[in-house]
Amino acid sequence: MSPMQPQTQEISIADLRGEVRGEVIEPEDPIYDEARQVFFKGFDRRPLAVVRVAGAEDVARVVSAAREGGLELAVRSGSHSRGGYGTTDGGIVLDLSGMKALEIDADDGTAWVETGINAGEYTLATGEHGLVTGLGDAGSVGLGGITLAGGVGFLARKNGLTMDDLLAAEVVTADGEVVTASEQTEPDLFWAIRGGEGNCGVATRFQLRLHEISEIVGGMLILPATPEVITGFLEAAGAAPDELSTIANVTLAPPMPFIPEEAHGEPILMGVMAYVGPVEEGEAVIAPFRALAKPYADMVRPMSYPELYEGPEQEARFASGTNFFSDSLEPAHAEAILEHLPKSTAMMKAVQLRVLGGALGRVPNDATAFAHRDRRLFANIAAMYTDPGEKEAHDAWVAGVADALGRDGAGGYVGFMGEEDEETIQAAYPGGTWDRLRELKRRYDPDNLFRLNHNIPPAQPT
Ligand SMILES: Cc1cc2nc3c(=O)[nH]c(=O)nc-3n(C[C@H](O)[C@H](O)[C@H](O)COP(=O)(O)OP(=O)(O)OC[C@H]3O[C@@H](n4cnc5c(N)ncnc54)[C@H](O)[C@@H]3O)c2cc1C
Repeated sequence: MSPMQPQTQEISIADLRGEVRGEVIEPEDPIYDEARQVFFKGFDRRPLAVVRVAGAEDVARVVSAAREGGLELAVRSGSHSRGGYGTTDGGIVLDLSGMKALEIDADDGTAWVETGINAGEYTLATGEHGLVTGLGDAGSVGLGGITLAGGVGFLARKNGLTMDDLLAAEVVTADGEVVTASEQTEPDLFWAIRGGEGNCGVATRFQLRLHEISEIVGGMLILPATPEVITGFLEAAGAAPDELSTIANVTLAPPMPFIPEEAHGEPILMGVMAYVGPVEEGEAVIAPFRALAKPYADMVRPMSYPELYEGPEQEARFASGTNFFSDSLEPAHAEAILEHLPKSTAMMKAVQLRVLGGALGRVPNDATAFAHRDRRLFANIAAMYTDPGEKEAHDAWVAGVADALGRDGAGGYVGFMGEEDEETIQAAYPGGTWDRLRELKRRYDPDNLFRLNHNIPPAQPT
């Protein structure tokens, strides 16, 4: 259920259609059923209209229309939010997914890009110039959502989070004003959007730093998962130079052709590796991982950076998940993962472990609204399933695994969260982050127009 019920319609969608350059899709349109979908299943909502905006002026018009009409507003770029925040019952969907314009300044090493492009499209286009910005592990995720949440990905240790490469953003605020947020102009807003998601405005364009990266040593290493292999992998990842970022998925082997048949259904560690630097050095850095056990499959090789995004897109399903930051994973925790995996009846379940540190960890905790810089490890537990009636069982499974792994309640990463209660969202913004975000929310969105998100309630006037 949406947190707010739809309110009285006071705006004319026909008028809106005449006022925007983009497409306004209403229930009677043949593409309505497709247009109202988001990536995850379980959000069968019926908006009054989906507006596929074509620029900042369109965004400003839709924001103003929703505000003036008292309508619930859902903002989406890639629609991958697990909370289903990209759709609404009876409100307006502001869909940025048609806004993909990209201008690369190769000499300057920067790009201006509209936020509706996805991670794969962006990386492929910049990669043609041997330039990239680090994003997450899925090409279909929207640039808008991942950058505003943080962006923990293939270059996290080398270059930091995606938002650490954000130099400026064009933002439409709740009053419909188009502003540029950067360290120089609107620095408070710039702070808030880096980790505070869409709470203070709709980002229409980003200026992102590009890094000269063409060839990497990367790809997937699949090892039999034992407690020693899991802890050994994380130790090796922590000891490796910043040039290497890894993502370890511990799961039960799916019946994929590149995994030997005798391993199907057995616990495996699928480690995605990305080493930025000379091939020989990369091979040496990856050698300790290969030595942990005889790999079931070793697909790590010199490749172009954008190749990391090749392969089949994830299929949309119902999803349960939880995540948390930690500093270490003890052998008993690794054993617990292996005990819990076979207990889940989900078609796909995994414990994903990402060793942090490096450039990500060198940014002060209070420099942005992502205040987990000092943590060493990130764990994301997920179960994908096809029968919505099983939700409770899968929610319980992911929570049980997190508890068994020693989750300490210190908060998680909003990017991977579903719809959460205020306590969980507050815990994701530790230290003074929550209070500062609440103050800025009061300044930029006092009436909480942008509330379909991991919501920051505006601070009360004192
Ligand atoms: C398969 C998969 C893999 C993932 N892998 C990673 C990963 O490796 N690393 C990582 O950090 N995260 C990862 N994520 C999490 C992902 O970054 C977040 O779910 C992100 O919010 C999705 O962005 P989106 O634009 O696709 O989603 P949307 O549903 O469109 O948006 C997500 C949230 O951001 C808001 N929003 C979106 N665009 C804008 C905008 N332009 N202006 C203002 N607000 C906006 C929305 O209102 C919503 O609250 C993954 C998610 C999935 C489903």
